[in-house]
Amino acid sequence: METPCSASRTTACAPIMGIFKTDPSKHVVVGNEMNCEICGHNLFFKRKGQINTAGLSFFELDWLNATANCVVCAQRGYVHWFLPTG
Ligand SMILES: [Zn+2]
Repeated sequence: METPCSASRTTACAPIMGIFKTDPSKHVVVGNEMNCEICGHNLFFKRKGQINTAGLSFFELDWLNATANCVVCAQRGYVHWFLPTG
């Protein structure tokens, strides 16, 4: 069962904060300030994520074996993935 954030809390849930070393910040994509796809929150943790499974090779999707930028909602932990472009 999901553990909701305290309604009075304006920063990230403690369990999510615990796995990141930096404070959450706003994220801008093509000039637009991003909001979480799920909850609309506007603060995110950022890290690199590896997209790499044997299944991808089986389906000839090796191009997905790449490092993506992960933008993680500080409120609910929803991970937004951005594949490298260009
Ligand atoms: Zn969210």
